Amino acid sequence: MVNDMNAMTPEWTQEIGRRREGLVGLRRDFHRHPELSFEERRTAEIIAERLHAAKLEVRTGLGRTGVVGVLRGDRPGRTIAWRADIDALPLTETFDAPFTSSKRGVMHACGHDGHAAIAITLAEILAARRREVPGTAVFVFQPAEEVFGGAEPMIAAGALDNPRVEEIYGLHLTTQTAVGQVGIVSGPSMASADFFDVHITGRGGHGAYPHLSIDPITAAANILLGLQNLVSREVSAHETAVLTVGQIVGGTKHNIIPASAVMRGSLRTFNEAVRGQIKGRLADFAAGIAQAYRTEARLTFEGDGCPAVVNHERQTAFVRECATAELGAEALNPGPPVMASDDMSLFLRQRPGCYFRVGIAPTDGGPYPHHAPEFQMNEDGLPVGLRLGLAVMLNALGA
Ligand SMILES: [Zn+2]
Ligand SMILES: [Zn+2]
Repeated sequence: MVNDMNAMTPEWTQEIGRRREGLVGLRRDFHRHPELSFEERRTAEIIAERLHAAKLEVRTGLGRTGVVGVLRGDRPGRTIAWRADIDALPLTETFDAPFTSSKRGVMHACGHDGHAAIAITLAEILAARRREVPGTAVFVFQPAEEVFGGAEPMIAAGALDNPRVEEIYGLHLTTQTAVGQVGIVSGPSMASADFFDVHITGRGGHGAYPHLSIDPITAAANILLGLQNLVSREVSAHETAVLTVGQIVGGTKHNIIPASAVMRGSLRTFNEAVRGQIKGRLADFAAGIAQAYRTEARLTFEGDGCPAVVNHERQTAFVRECATAELGAEALNPGPPVMASDDMSLFLRQRPGCYFRVGIAPTDGGPYPHHAPEFQMNEDGLPVGLRLGLAVMLNALGA
């Protein structure tokens, strides 16, 4: 660990200024050509091309469409990874700009276009000054973050091995924070996420004669309310958990009682024990309420879900020192952990590190929420993220 953290030398910061236009251009290119989870072929191709051109060792096809670039500095040092996610979302963009998504129904509405552009530019800067770079930088471009599907297969494919990565860092851009501000939270900083389906089976019939049928809609309504009480009655008031039912499907008409209904929901928390506790109770709880209404409920989870992002204390303190040296203490936004989720958590279970937030809030009052068709970023935040990323990598590699 570096003891007295100094800001980067002017030679390094000039590199950022020189590449600012290219950084924004690259982000706009990704924005114009968004690709859904595990379909990031064009994006991966551009990443691989740029890394090749910068003379990194490039591996493609990790976790299907992931890319890893390895940059060996000329000086001895440590092996540090930088992770960026690269996928877009199934949304139709409403913002009108020359770089608006060219694909109807697909949109970079989470800032991953910016993450990819920052990571590429970061690799290119280090490559351009390789003689001064200590250690080995590993750039992990991960597909399919939005479906929590990309991190695990990339880890399984050896993204953190050969060379063996010692620590991992990365950033998420956020429109909830002003440009120039960064959020660096030690410990749990983003929530876990588990998605579940509840299938409720009854017996259909005429709406006028409910006593002759078994109504799954009424059962669904009571299960929905009950699930909220499960959180409020069984989770300690000192813990945080959010359970949301985002979809209910059932029935066809005003006066027909359908035979079945389906509810889909998500569970988020910061504590692995609480997560296990609620997950363990959900199926029994839903089934119990269903039974009271003579229906049957079967609750299933979609995959393994995504654990909470838990930043490691020492590495988080280190990123905070870098941010203070580069951006000033006033840039540190003490904001709370966020309920959104990110499968960066799986990398942070493998190696110590820190995943931090960088502000991109537009100045015209917004809001421009992530995962919404009206999402927009203030591109002035991109060089801020690049600068902090560069400082983190340089100091970690040489520490
Ligand atoms: Zn997202
Ligand atoms: Zn995201």
